[in-house]
Amino acid sequence: MTMVDELREQVRGAVIAPDDEGYEQARRVYNAMIERRPALVVRCANAGDVVAAVRFAGEHDLDLAVRGGAHSVPGFGTCDGGVVIDLSGMRGVRVDPANRTARAEGGATWGDFNAATHAFGLATTGGIVSTTGVSGLTLGGGIGYLSRGCGLSCDNLVSADVVTADGRFLVASEQEHPDLFWALRGGGGNFGVVTSLEFRLHPIRDIYGGPIFFELQDGRDVLRFYRDFIADAPEELGAFPAFQIAPPLPFIPEDRHGDTFIGIVACWAGPLEQGERAVEPIRQVAPVVAELVGPMPYPAINSAFDALVPPGLQHYWKANFVTELTDQIIEAHLAHGPKVPAVNSTMHIYPINGACHQVEPDATAFAYRDANFATVIAGMWPDPADNQANTEWVHAYYDATAPYSEEGGYINFMGGDDQDRIRANYRGNYERLVAVKRLYDPGNLFHLNQNVKP
Ligand SMILES: Cc1cc2nc3c(=O)[nH]c(=O)nc-3n(C[C@H](O)[C@H](O)[C@H](O)COP(=O)(O)OP(=O)(O)OC[C@H]3O[C@@H](n4cnc5c(N)ncnc54)[C@H](O)[C@@H]3O)c2cc1C
Repeated sequence: MTMVDELREQVRGAVIAPDDEGYEQARRVYNAMIERRPALVVRCANAGDVVAAVRFAGEHDLDLAVRGGAHSVPGFGTCDGGVVIDLSGMRGVRVDPANRTARAEGGATWGDFNAATHAFGLATTGGIVSTTGVSGLTLGGGIGYLSRGCGLSCDNLVSADVVTADGRFLVASEQEHPDLFWALRGGGGNFGVVTSLEFRLHPIRDIYGGPIFFELQDGRDVLRFYRDFIADAPEELGAFPAFQIAPPLPFIPEDRHGDTFIGIVACWAGPLEQGERAVEPIRQVAPVVAELVGPMPYPAINSAFDALVPPGLQHYWKANFVTELTDQIIEAHLAHGPKVPAVNSTMHIYPINGACHQVEPDATAFAYRDANFATVIAGMWPDPADNQANTEWVHAYYDATAPYSEEGGYINFMGGDDQDRIRANYRGNYERLVAVKRLYDPGNLFHLNQNVKP
């Protein structure tokens, strides 16, 4: 019996090797720029399968990649010649409406999560696209429409089930393995495979919001207004500016399809009847070219941009935390944002003030609790022939904004070439993360990530 057959006997899910049907699909991740060929993809059916796959990789000294929603832009969810733990078969979400909590399996997406909790008029902070994985996003921190009011996704984590490098199954919470629980909240996939996560929920059912497009010539006014407005806007309001080429959608005048705009996407999660008043100041900044603002279910805004980012695009991203949107950084945005190269590409400035600031910098691994913004320059385009030109756009934009930004960037938005910024990203929390890493993964089995070295 081969060692692969042995693994097949141990697991309930499929073990997919290069000669197996479905391998070409199974080896791929969301970013089509990533071309890797693992020896095995283990499509786990339960936590027991995860234990078996982790032990298998450890015993055979194989590289191990862990994949939830597969959205990692650097392609951390696959590898060459090693084992991939693919959690996409574990997507169940159980809501406990009485306690206002929900438990998601390790492969659930935000679409899965929001659909389940919305049925009970509940939600928590998640990403802005429904196909992103709950686990990967939460372990890195988790920024979304609800961050200003509800905190980061990781701030809403109550507990997690974790399979560690030695194949143990642990529960991490404030009460059990609190060091591990601390590290999981911002420390990424460094500490084990999370097979399920339990979240605190908030009474949010419908929101008022959507995108508002302005002419590029009003960009300076829009960004300066945004800086001042978001500093003390009510915390129920999430809103981020973006540079965006207009997609061919009915709410945008047909003769403007393909033109580049600056926009603000708003999401008011307070009492619905107050939504129009909360968003109105944004509309008043400059003449509105197009907007699709109104009441909608929270899962609708979470999937509003899905069509712009289908799987199979080329991706290259860079990121920074920003304390102040100074006039200088606004000028850098105005110089590079309008050159956004494809309808899929964008630049977003997410606000992380409000509730995110109410957590002490050392209370979780996520250290930048005084930064007001997390910026992402998200290069995304369909044609590999554009890789060089579009990667250069990201680089030039990043280089222009970096001098006015913090040294660290949000690890979930950072590139694969940002490993040398990991220490800066965790600031004073770095040494403690290393200590936790030494305890739970001294051999660095979980190294295909923004890696904290033991
Ligand atoms: C289109 C798009 C939109 C995005 N929007 C947002 C957003 O609004 N807010 C935001 O904060 N981020 C956003 N991100 C970034 C996102 O948080 C990261 O890409 C994140 O890593 C995605 O998690 P995933 O599970 O989908 O990815 P995967 O590629 O499956 O996982 C990424 C890494 O996370 C770790 N990981 C994943 N699952 C587990 C697990 N169960 N146990 C242990 N480790 C695990 C592993 O190290 C893995 O390599 C977005 C990304 C994309 C591509």
